Amino acid sequence: MRGECPDCAVGLAHCHGTLLVAGTGVVECSDPECEDLDEAVHPLVLRLAAADRATARDRRAS
Ligand SMILES: [Zn+2]
Ligand SMILES: [Zn+2]
Repeated sequence: MRGECPDCAVGLAHCHGTLLVAGTGVVECSDPECEDLDEAVHPLVLRLAAADRATARDRRAS
């Protein structure tokens, strides 16, 4: 996996998780080890409508 990612190859700071941006402004990442909740380091950004924030809470429950 690591060898297939060009960003990893050059040592660029980035995350392989999906960033979840809730309509409430709450930002979470699907990767529990993620340390930088910045859209700039997330190729995958999922924007949730405010009504969908229960989904984001479920992902964090584990
Ligand atoms: Zn990578
Ligand atoms: Zn992340």
